[in-house]
Amino acid sequence: MIASRMKNLHPYVPGEQPKDRNYIKLNANENPYPPSPLVSKTLARAAKKYAAKMALYPDPDSNELKAAIADLLNKTGGVLCRTETKGGKKSGSGAECSPSASDKIPFAVTPDMIYCGNGSDEVLSFVFYAFFDSDRPLVLPNFTYSFYPVYAGFYNIPLAPIPLQADWTLDKEKMLSEAQAKDSSIIFANPNAPTGLALTREEVRKMIQAAPKDRVFVVDEAYVDFGGESCIPLLAEFCNLVIVRTFSKSLCGAGMRLGYVVACPELVNHITTVKNSLNHFPIDFLSQQGGIAACKDAGYYAVCAKKVAEERDSFSEFLRKQGWFVIPSSTNFVFAKKEGLSAEEAYRKIKRAGILVRHFSTAGIEEFLRITIGSHEQMTELKHVIEDM
Ligand SMILES: *Cc1c(COP(=O)(O)O)cnc(C)c1O
Repeated sequence: MIASRMKNLHPYVPGEQPKDRNYIKLNANENPYPPSPLVSKTLARAAKKYAAKMALYPDPDSNELKAAIADLLNKTGGVLCRTETKGGKKSGSGAECSPSASDKIPFAVTPDMIYCGNGSDEVLSFVFYAFFDSDRPLVLPNFTYSFYPVYAGFYNIPLAPIPLQADWTLDKEKMLSEAQAKDSSIIFANPNAPTGLALTREEVRKMIQAAPKDRVFVVDEAYVDFGGESCIPLLAEFCNLVIVRTFSKSLCGAGMRLGYVVACPELVNHITTVKNSLNHFPIDFLSQQGGIAACKDAGYYAVCAKKVAEERDSFSEFLRKQGWFVIPSSTNFVFAKKEGLSAEEAYRKIKRAGILVRHFSTAGIEEFLRITIGSHEQMTELKHVIEDM
């Protein structure tokens, strides 16, 4: 009864979302803070004033949202936790923003450089469809976002996973030599998941320079706002670079399902062709409105990202004092293990105390827990549980 292609499907298993108990959720790298008050106001107004709009199709190309994203990137340099904020209310809402000197983008990001989709997972799927072929392997680290192999199965794209080095960093040389040998594309998350480690923009620049020029090079910046360096400035040099980003982590909007690509207009057009061949209207009217509102309050999100980054650093410090090994994180999560402690048992103990963290049983990382950074109160509760282990 089922098509033979179904045998290539290996669905992604997301962090559990149980409903039986009011858990503190530190297992899906969501943001502990709500979206900007501007978003709730806009959604309430949209629901009331524009309910009739729900009878009509939304803008298929999210043009207003693209313009708002371009504005946000130009204003912040694409890294919130170093964005300087001035004025506005205490929450940061309405504050003036400017990028730190090192994050400033040396050109104006324009709306034709943006593609918007229904979460970056959908955006990634279209990127895989548009740019990766079944005639050569896609080069990626062995441990990175685990949705990439899922799409590779879906689109029948062979993979060349390159093991991380002993210190959990990417093996740039091996990834490059494999990509050169096979004339292949490269994809990874930067900062990477689940390690939390980031390459500098200069390191990525050197990689793109050495990688095949006629193949797309994809950098997934889902976590960049918490401490990485964005590769958006490199678009001035490389038209084979595709940067994927999301509203789900630093823009407190996982429920809105918004993700986007920043790339040269030519590549954006190819992704748009995939969209128009599959799902013409990927972003509903309300999410477009919510996303536009979010982009107008960079100050609020910069304050949230800074709070998360500070909490992450103090939590990492705490874990180390408790004898844990913690990989230095540039993200909103930490990846940590403790010698002699079974991570699976620790996960269960923490769950019994009402807190969900993530444990992967994948060989090679099965000793680690991935812990999302929540609010100060949530982390204080978790610290009490860990102290007793
Ligand atoms: C969370 C995450 C995504 C998915 O984000 P959505 O926009 O919610 O689909 C993509 N890439 C990485 C590396 C992530 O961690």
